[in-house]
Amino acid sequence: MKWILFLGALIGLGICRQQKFRGDQVFRVNVRNGDEISKLTQLMNSARFELSFWKSPSTFNRPVDVLVPSVNLQPVKSFLKTQGLEYSVTIDDLQDLLDIEDEEMRLNEGQERNDSNFNYGAYHSLEAIYQEMDSIAIDFPKLASRLKIGQTFEKRPMYVLKFSTGGGKRRPAIWLNAGMHSREWISQATAIWTARKIVSDYGKDPAITSILKKVDIFLLPVANPDGYVYTQTRNRLWRKTRSLNPGSHCIGTDPNRNWNASFAGKGTSNNPCSEVYHGPHAHSEVEVKSIVEFIKKHGNFKCFIDLHSYSQLLMYPYGYTVKKTLDAAELDKVARRAAKALASKSGTEYEVGPISTTVYPASGNSLDWAYDNGIKYSFTFELRDTGNYGFLLPADQIIPTAEETWLGMKTIMEHVRDNLY
Ligand SMILES: [Zn+2]
Repeated sequence: MKWILFLGALIGLGICRQQKFRGDQVFRVNVRNGDEISKLTQLMNSARFELSFWKSPSTFNRPVDVLVPSVNLQPVKSFLKTQGLEYSVTIDDLQDLLDIEDEEMRLNEGQERNDSNFNYGAYHSLEAIYQEMDSIAIDFPKLASRLKIGQTFEKRPMYVLKFSTGGGKRRPAIWLNAGMHSREWISQATAIWTARKIVSDYGKDPAITSILKKVDIFLLPVANPDGYVYTQTRNRLWRKTRSLNPGSHCIGTDPNRNWNASFAGKGTSNNPCSEVYHGPHAHSEVEVKSIVEFIKKHGNFKCFIDLHSYSQLLMYPYGYTVKKTLDAAELDKVARRAAKALASKSGTEYEVGPISTTVYPASGNSLDWAYDNGIKYSFTFELRDTGNYGFLLPADQIIPTAEETWLGMKTIMEHVRDNLY
């Protein structure tokens, strides 16, 4: 009884509501040499100024985006100045963007209740995405089905849409994954748009029709459902899973550092409070484990595409080493063709390359695991934008992003269709 009253009081005080970011700013820090990279890396690895790095220090000439809490604006500015680091402000007040996003979502939810039509140009709750997956399967029963591949830490179902024109259980297959990092909302939104695109274009667009004659496509639009719900109820900028870490007050593991591919290697942290905490052991996160088990059990995946944001990059393995894969030349060629197709839609430019030398080392990532487990055609897209909005990409960019990404993904899938091994 006392507990219920206590919880009631907490809710009454508003403690359980969305975290506010009033006055917080995002700085873009220019990086011109190794010395500046190491200064920023030191800053990132300290708890100083309560900073959150949206784009970590990496290779030369790649700017670093960092979220600065309003209380620390002055100290951070003086620090950057004394260190001789150049910066500009890319987001002036984070809460303004969040308020707009909230309001748009609320209005859209009302609209969708009225006309019961899923608006692909809006961001959605987990429930709405799951319902739309169901609708797609109901609308196209011969082509699409919704499968449950597991259950999250907080006991939510994990749903996959399977697109298949028959051909038996072990037909070669493509895995499309999105939303591993929960705050990267454009990835989940692009994925659900893609699901509808596949069913509407099948039989009309010769490319997707011929792809589906040879291979099945499995699409997981929300790979980290607990995190996604948390971004909509408590903290819009949550990245990790929501699993508990015994002995620490910090929650969650970075699911894209949790795969069994040079686990706990470079570009990861053993500190549960870190945004790149690798977890207690490989596949400790039930969300990752569910995907791994599904893919292994299936046994005939040829392609793995993982959608993230932001930065406009199209990358392939490895992340855990600067060593090239045996297929680097082919993967690079395919990625360049895909990036060109993507840009043909509205001119959006993507950079192409292996993870480790394009951004930074990242061990335990999904792509390296897929590649090392025999899935040759493994790619990751870092979707729009390059930092004007970062993780808070306005909803009016969802459809343009999804449309151009589709052209890139289709180029990869056509290559897979023509090069089954
Ligand atoms: Zn990500």
